[in-house]
Amino acid sequence: MASEIEIEQQLAPLRLLVKEQGDRVRELKESQAPKADISRAVAELKRRKKQLEDKEKALNPPDEFNRSQLETLLKQRFFYRPSFSIYGGIAGLYDFGPTGCAMKNNLLQEWRLHFVLEEDMLEIESSSLAPEPVFKASGHLDRFLDYVVKDVKTGECLRADHLLDAHLEKLLADKNLEGDSRQEIINLRTKVESLSLQELGDQIKKFEVKSPVTGNNVSDPMPFNLMFRTEIGPSGGVSGYLRPETSQGMFVNFDYLLEYNQGKLPFAAAQIGSAFRNEVSPRSGLLRVREFTLGEIEYFYHPNDNDHFKFDSVADVEVTLFPKDHQVSGKPTRKMSIKNAVDEGVIGSRCMGYFLGRISLYLTKMGIDPKYLRFRQHMDNEMAHYATDCWDAECKTSYGWVECVGCANRSCYDLKCHVKATGASLCARETLKEPISVTINEYHSSKVGKAFKGDAKKIMQYFSNLDNDTAEKYDKMLKDTSQIEVDIDSKKLTISEDMIAVKRYEKEIHVVDITPSVIEPSFGFGRILYSILEHNFRIREGDEQRSWLSLPPPVAPVKCSVLPLSAKKEFDPYIKQLASELKLHGISNKVDDSAGSIGRRYARTDQIGIPYGITVDFDTVTNNPATVTLRERNTMQQIRLNADIAPKVVSDLVKGLTTWKETITKYHLFEGQESKK
Ligand code: AMP
Repeated sequence: MASEIEIEQQLAPLRLLVKEQGDRVRELKESQAPKADISRAVAELKRRKKQLEDKEKALNPPDEFNRSQLETLLKQRFFYRPSFSIYGGIAGLYDFGPTGCAMKNNLLQEWRLHFVLEEDMLEIESSSLAPEPVFKASGHLDRFLDYVVKDVKTGECLRADHLLDAHLEKLLADKNLEGDSRQEIINLRTKVESLSLQELGDQIKKFEVKSPVTGNNVSDPMPFNLMFRTEIGPSGGVSGYLRPETSQGMFVNFDYLLEYNQGKLPFAAAQIGSAFRNEVSPRSGLLRVREFTLGEIEYFYHPNDNDHFKFDSVADVEVTLFPKDHQVSGKPTRKMSIKNAVDEGVIGSRCMGYFLGRISLYLTKMGIDPKYLRFRQHMDNEMAHYATDCWDAECKTSYGWVECVGCANRSCYDLKCHVKATGASLCARETLKEPISVTINEYHSSKVGKAFKGDAKKIMQYFSNLDNDTAEKYDKMLKDTSQIEVDIDSKKLTISEDMIAVKRYEKEIHVVDITPSVIEPSFGFGRILYSILEHNFRIREGDEQRSWLSLPPPVAPVKCSVLPLSAKKEFDPYIKQLASELKLHGISNKVDDSAGSIGRRYARTDQIGIPYGITVDFDTVTNNPATVTLRERNTMQQIRLNADIAPKVVSDLVKGLTTWKETITKYHLFEGQESKK
């Protein structure tokens, strides 16, 4: 395989081509060149980027990874399986078995320790089901969409961008396709995901795309909202949705949380819970499912102060960053400390830097391989509707780079949306050092209530929140045309001169209302769990059949196995005693007294990643005091120690109070049953 330097040498000319074209696009935009010239230059830029990416992929083939062997292990040892399989199953729904469930609980437990406990976050549990106006206000009703087409005969829905992309890929596989046609398709593939509804429809028609399953024609694309809709209550009058993210529950409770925090900013709310997305084509196991567990944090801070008081604690954390300008100009990722990244402006604020550092520490502690972890910044055209900046923690797996954690700057978007929709007061109060003078526009009306009934409160709330410029603009309109038109909840309402009166005066104020900004790290535990499993999947050298998981002890589903070397009755009291003492230390354990050889039983415990194993053998029952062996999974080394201290030693190892290296210097290495065999 080529060395890193050799690879860089081969990529350099392609990087240069991308950079030159990136500069050209910038120049054209700055000189306000004709739109057609800019589009042509952008298409060429995308083509060059794709060429670079393909070369990068060819030079850095993913490590050989036997996914089917991992999948067999996960099925056999019931980490997770498709739900309702005895009924034929349903795509995108999975049940976690004892091993997967324990592992996931460990991830959640460690998340609570690492974030909620460490940062004094305010954890809440809000409802998974919400009435429609919540998602209307948050923008999810209008914008949480994918575009789909229907098979005109069977009615089957297919994701339009995926369908077009797969069709183009097939066309490119034809070696006879040459010249401009090939080039056109290559260019189109680089922008399939950002095509508008109209453009997607045009391309599907142009390339005569059919359903790959039936060969039938497909309909024009149409928007499909990914939220599950339902009706709340028996009368069917209230539409509701299962939440696609947990965050709205924290935004709508902002005022109570602020009060709980004694009115002080900054503070963070946190929530773990299920999220539901009606994905059009669920796939890749746990990576794209329809119900998954999210852990979300909303860090509310003063919009003029985007520092973080604990920044220094992550300043030296090394991360691999893939900023958006590097993606545009084809430059590689950068490995740098959080401090340098913030100082050089790669990461926009110390606050964002702090959370990226904390996310990196959590993921690597949970067993994500730092080599296969990067933070990729969103390009401007891929950001969610609520975000102003976003970095995804992506883990490399056999499926490619997978977004496991999104860290978005949501600014004040959500709080403002809910204020606008409800008139609630979702803001913090800041006491000023010096009082300031402000213009107050006090609106009065007796007729608005009569004219607009249910909407009246919102209308008056709208007027009381007007800024000075808009208030003056409305004054002028009322004078000139005797009426104004306002847009409230997407309804255009006409307010006439006789309905409303304004009293305007200057007032000295000591306290101002502030709508906080928000940084939101959002963790998808299914994706994290799967990536950890891939990064820790191992095969014992020289034994292709013997797969095992090198899971870090805090994540391993079971921490210690207890194994009797023989089925003889006199072993029983020792086994029972060890198991119950381990439990007293809070260490989960599994007794395996099946008939297989000890080597086979160790292999079985390794398969589910149990890091330590205590074995009771014939010496245990004859020695006084009784001794046992303790085996460590990764090295397969064993030590011999007194039975009564073994549970405490395991507990210290699992809790990270000591290391295996320290433990083997304290107790003697033992030529154990496994190695003798
Ligand atoms: P998003 O709000 O789309 O940024 O998603 C937040 C996190 O949820 C992502 O970083 C993923 O880890 C996870 N996630 C999103 N969609 C899915 C899905 N369909 N299946 C599994 N995990 C998902």
